Amino acid sequence: MRQQKWWLVGLSALMMVSCGSTQVSSGANTAQASTDAEVAAPQDGASLTAQAVSWPVLRVGSSGQSVTSLQHLLLAHGHSVGVDGQFGSQTEAAVRSFQQSRGLSADGIVGEQTWTALVITVREGSTGEAVKAVQKELGVTADGQFGPQTKSAVVSFQQSRGLTADGIVGPNTWRELVGSGTVTTSDRATLAQQILNNGRISLYTVQVSGVNDGADARSNIVDTAAGRPAKRSSYDNAPGGSVYLDTRMLRGMLSTAGVYSYRSTAIAGGSHSSNSRHYAGLAFDVDTINGVRVSSSNPYFRNFMQACRNAGADEVLGPGSAGHSTHVHCGWPR
Ligand SMILES: [Zn+2]
Repeated sequence: MRQQKWWLVGLSALMMVSCGSTQVSSGANTAQASTDAEVAAPQDGASLTAQAVSWPVLRVGSSGQSVTSLQHLLLAHGHSVGVDGQFGSQTEAAVRSFQQSRGLSADGIVGEQTWTALVITVREGSTGEAVKAVQKELGVTADGQFGPQTKSAVVSFQQSRGLTADGIVGPNTWRELVGSGTVTTSDRATLAQQILNNGRISLYTVQVSGVNDGADARSNIVDTAAGRPAKRSSYDNAPGGSVYLDTRMLRGMLSTAGVYSYRSTAIAGGSHSSNSRHYAGLAFDVDTINGVRVSSSNPYFRNFMQACRNAGADEVLGPGSAGHSTHVHCGWPR
């Protein structure tokens, strides 16, 4: 009895998170006015109305494209550092020196305040290290010259993220570029921590069935952030045991959150069809997108499914598929 009460409390807390925030309700209002499934678009220079992806937190040991961008930006500010995508002691020293020069706490850790001070607005005609960072993030030739090809890549990126598509890379576009799960890191625990930090992702704290077995979506991500495998359920079809969540799937959870706020109901836990990709840490389920429950009349589910495919999922099911009238399933290849 006590256990049941606790999960009901957890469930109502979840409902408040996903239905009560302004971000979600503004998304739902947008849906009435427009057939386009974009969330309310944060504009560069305007006050932030919707929380998109977070600035990544980088420190010694971090690696990947966001570290490469950091290094280019440090160079752009005149701090000497090699560009290798590895956050080592030389990068740390350059970060501390930059932080000191801006009156920031010189802790050598790059979070929101340091990123905000580091990024430089660039547009067509701009040149230099900051442009190289943008070009590498977008996968275009990194010659440091912001020409028409770079502008067109920026505009498509902005469109895909629900940003004002003006081709100008200001703070919000920078945050989307360096904070996007597809480009930040391949480290599993870091990805999971980014998911926990992402205000646009809600995670169920029990199974949809009501079972409370520590294999719920949130526990899966908490365990992964701590370097542990994610638990599987052991009722009905579920095989029990645990599994390391796949990094492609974790990156997919982050990149879809770049455009949609959503609630995930299950990752490795819960009972699914036998041999489901969930049990292999390759799939996540979603029952609410931009504050609207998934059904055939949800205005967002088709584009959400496409966002999963864009992030590499090849088993994408939703309303119209058997057994998926109220949730979207995104699964990555084995
Ligand atoms: Zn599923």
